[in-house]
Amino acid sequence: MKKVAVVDLMINQVLIKNIEDNQNLIAEDDDLVFKAPSLCGYGILGLNRLDIYSQNSNSKAGGYFAHYLKCNGYDYLLIKGKSKEPVYIYINNENVFIKSAEEIYFLDKESTENKIKKDLNKEDIEIAQVGIAACHGVDFSRIILGNKSCGKDGLGKLMGEKNLKAIVLNKAEFLKPKCREKLYNINRKIANKLGNEDIEAYYNEQNNCFGCIVNCGSTSIKKIMKKGFSLEEAENLDSISNHYGMDSCIFASIADKEEDFEKLAEDIVFNNKSYELKSSKKSKIHDESDEFEELGFCRFLIKKNILDHDDIKMLKECILGE
Ligand code: SF4
Repeated sequence: MKKVAVVDLMINQVLIKNIEDNQNLIAEDDDLVFKAPSLCGYGILGLNRLDIYSQNSNSKAGGYFAHYLKCNGYDYLLIKGKSKEPVYIYINNENVFIKSAEEIYFLDKESTENKIKKDLNKEDIEIAQVGIAACHGVDFSRIILGNKSCGKDGLGKLMGEKNLKAIVLNKAEFLKPKCREKLYNINRKIANKLGNEDIEAYYNEQNNCFGCIVNCGSTSIKKIMKKGFSLEEAENLDSISNHYGMDSCIFASIADKEEDFEKLAEDIVFNNKSYELKSSKKSKIHDESDEFEELGFCRFLIKKNILDHDDIKMLKECILGE
């Protein structure tokens, strides 16, 4: 069975339910869904892809959120309706709380994180949050997950429309696999392929994504430069976009070279300045037919042939006992 936390922000209600293993949760109306891969949470190296989707949009990201969602026991977080007041959701295993975000709603990433830690009196948390842009309804707002972000095609905006500033996870312990030894052997194989045999190094939380030492950085500056901006301009556009929590490539496609970028961002975020969205490249849709991608491995790691089909069979056996 897969476990779903359903949070209805309209009526301020939390419901925990189970669905069949072979069932997928369909997003209806204005639902926003966070989905963790079924083998996530057990400590498999490089398995960290979080799937976020609505009726109209789908986006994937690495980071730690999927891992800790699963460690708290959930395969899905389904967010329904819109809250009247700004809120954040806090998940601590069986306990799911809807808490006021009145004081943090218009804060930037770092300030939001610090305030939430203070509010919960807890340092060990993982956060998915929206920035100032989403809270003002900017179309290309992103959902920020530590050093990663996603959801420029409407998901960040949808989270803001729900008055949902953040989702906070307790950093719960890893789930226990059926067979630790087999899992260890598979992890050794992945570590060998990635060129560092020290498995502990993969679990260092300074890494950008759970179970990965590659730590690939953002490619947005290069993409912005391809639009004709200098390195300095691209860095400036990227930094302004990060401050507001919006997609820097789309922001760059709206900006003119001679423009005051800071003023343009303020006009878009605070003064409802109209802008034309040139057709941005949509996030690559998840390829359900790819067994490795379906399991939740990052595409970059899949290309490195970290595992073969027999390994996948063994993985399922040692985690689920199938
Ligand atoms: S290769 Fe990059 S994106 Fe993929 S899991 Fe590792 S750090 Fe994350």
